[in-house]
Amino acid sequence: ALFNRVQEITGNIRVFCRVRPTLPSEVDLATSQVIDSDKIVVRQKVFEFDRVFGPGHTQEQVYEDTSPLVTCAMDGYNVCIFAYGQTGSGKTYTMTGPPESRGVNHRALAELFRLCDERSAAFIYSIQVSMLEIYNECIRDLVTGKTDNRLEIKLGPDGNPFVPDLIWIPVESLQQVWSVIDAWDTKSCPGEHANEHSLATNRDTGDKLAGKLHLVDLAGSERVSRSEAEGERLREAQHINKSLSALGDVFMALLAKQSHVPYRNSKLTFLLQDSLGGDSKTLMFVNVSPAAADETETLSSLMFAQRVA
Ligand code: ADP
Ligand code: MG
Repeated sequence: ALFNRVQEITGNIRVFCRVRPTLPSEVDLATSQVIDSDKIVVRQKVFEFDRVFGPGHTQEQVYEDTSPLVTCAMDGYNVCIFAYGQTGSGKTYTMTGPPESRGVNHRALAELFRLCDERSAAFIYSIQVSMLEIYNECIRDLVTGKTDNRLEIKLGPDGNPFVPDLIWIPVESLQQVWSVIDAWDTKSCPGEHANEHSLATNRDTGDKLAGKLHLVDLAGSERVSRSEAEGERLREAQHINKSLSALGDVFMALLAKQSHVPYRNSKLTFLLQDSLGGDSKTLMFVNVSPAAADETETLSSLMFAQRVA
């Protein structure tokens, strides 16, 4: 129900803001205040999103509003779910979460298999997963974990982007997916990206319906100045800025209904070309820290997200 309502207002891109709780190490006063289910105030400035989750909202509550998009992927849509925000703002908590409090990734995949079961009388589903990382504009397969082979994005005969050597694992159960995900090093890879392709075949008509679900834990959005970083770290920061600003530019072009959408400006947007825009569905979490010390980054994340919302 939420999906339809939000869709009427904002088209196919929606933005959920999530403020994480204060950490024990944070002694300064909180900077933000969630004033409504869709509004947050920082330094007297009100930001409005499709939904705002405060420090008290659970993973279940966050997933509840996310789940309609997961259903869309099973219905044959291409869906992207992103987490955007500075390092330490709760992106990985929201997407992956600790074992005792699973995030969107695990819940989404569990729901896919639940839907497969529910619909098994009418459809035969086949589901494949892959996991990759884009680091310094290089694509790495997180399933093989090989660092030496640089994967490239190609356009297929259907005009859709694909990564020729990326491993796709056919999965039939949640346990199988979990074993793939658990092999995934969640410690510090920026730009992690899990993909799921589903193909539904109607048992009566033989009609096929293909959907994609991209789950993306973006790299930290904080600005890194030249004085703070040099060498490898600076190069990394520049690549991250490039890929996040390319993502912002694609959203802007889509919202302005421009005929040219600059997908080719980064690996991330090139790879997601067929899943951003058109009739695809996008959900962006903008994760923010409540700490006053992070206020500048919080404002900059909210402003980025506000342009998209
Ligand atoms: P990021 O991936 O954006 O760098 P993390 O997800 O690692 O940030 O979160 C930073 C810290 O805050 C972690 O210790 C994480 O467990 C904690 N945290 C983030 N969001 C929440 C939340 N909603 N509830 C409880 N702890 C959280
Ligand atoms: Mg993280």
